[in-house]
Amino acid sequence: MSHADDTAVIPVAAPLLGEREQKYLAEAMADGAISGYFGRHLERFEREFASYCGSTHAITVSNGTTALHLATATLNLGPGDEVMVATLTNMATFFAVLYTGAKPIPIDVEPDTLNLDPAELEAKLTPRTRAIIVVHLFGHPVDMDPVLAFAKKHGLAVIEDAAQAHGATYKGKKVGSLGDIGCFSFYANKIITTGEGGMFTTNDPRLLERAKALKSLAFGHSNKFMHTDIGFNYRMTNLQAALGCAQLERVEDIIANKRRIAAYYGERLRRYDCLELPVEKPYARNVYWMYHLALKGRFASRRDEVMSRLKAAGVETREGFIPYNMQDIFIERGLTRADECPRANDVALRSFYLPSGPQLNERQLDKVVRSFSEILDKP
Ligand SMILES: *Cc1c(COP(=O)(O)O)cnc(C)c1O
Repeated sequence: MSHADDTAVIPVAAPLLGEREQKYLAEAMADGAISGYFGRHLERFEREFASYCGSTHAITVSNGTTALHLATATLNLGPGDEVMVATLTNMATFFAVLYTGAKPIPIDVEPDTLNLDPAELEAKLTPRTRAIIVVHLFGHPVDMDPVLAFAKKHGLAVIEDAAQAHGATYKGKKVGSLGDIGCFSFYANKIITTGEGGMFTTNDPRLLERAKALKSLAFGHSNKFMHTDIGFNYRMTNLQAALGCAQLERVEDIIANKRRIAAYYGERLRRYDCLELPVEKPYARNVYWMYHLALKGRFASRRDEVMSRLKAAGVETREGFIPYNMQDIFIERGLTRADECPRANDVALRSFYLPSGPQLNERQLDKVVRSFSEILDKP
């Protein structure tokens, strides 16, 4: 390790790319298979991803947001429909509902996992409710059994936003295979990456056929140019799929490193009663996409100060998500009220995440913990 590594800022995330990624990319180039239709890597990535997540089918798409939009469009959601969505998430989850004209209904979170609280669903059910979108936030799976039971009882579809949770398991089963549709992202900071990219998973052959058509301009069957629907172009390129095949071969290694990092931080930060650290419920394998924590007690209102002091020490951090119900653009449109999900609001402004890239070494992790401890010990 060079001296420069000691003084360099430790980033919150960095992709792990190596020789295999270069090799597969070169193969795709040599095949002349760069676009969406001819490449062998696309088919292979879909097959291997489906197999990895225990889903019967997987379809590549251009990113996680288009995976989610493809899901809401495939379910025929539209004006007059309501969709219950975990309020604390990347706003792409909500945009996917709004694109269709349906109304998202934000659902408050559990205080420990920060995932959608199944106990909150009943109160928000109306005759217009059609679907639920759960988000496996920061790599911790949602408590799915009560959600699935509720959905079954009321005839609702379930979409899993698994953009942050590739490889996470709920009672031994991989997320993305538990609901009607699973959506993944392969953006550069996600568990595995293709630069930009996404995946749509399902066990339902009818949803599969409709999603396949909508994803690629809904070309006709007997005459290609007699279109069957108003389709989208949400295709992934074969170059991205080549990267994805290589990344998928190292996904368990990446997860092992995410878990190593979480264990390292957890052991050393547990002693601070001013911190709320990530949890791992008995039903869960948490893949710790990001090591997300919340400040409390005397630090509760000092998140921004703590983040800037860490930055000065060479430790990059990022603030937690702002819930749907706190976004001005939605409050102004009368879609929600700031106080609609009080638990999410309470945690949002106290939380941030620490560097969580899979290649962080012990020296870097030690620097993060030492810098953070200095702030917490001498406020
Ligand atoms: C990243 C992310 C998305 C969007 O994925 P993109 O590939 O960036 O479009 C959606 N939902 C969640 C929870 C995410 O983390």
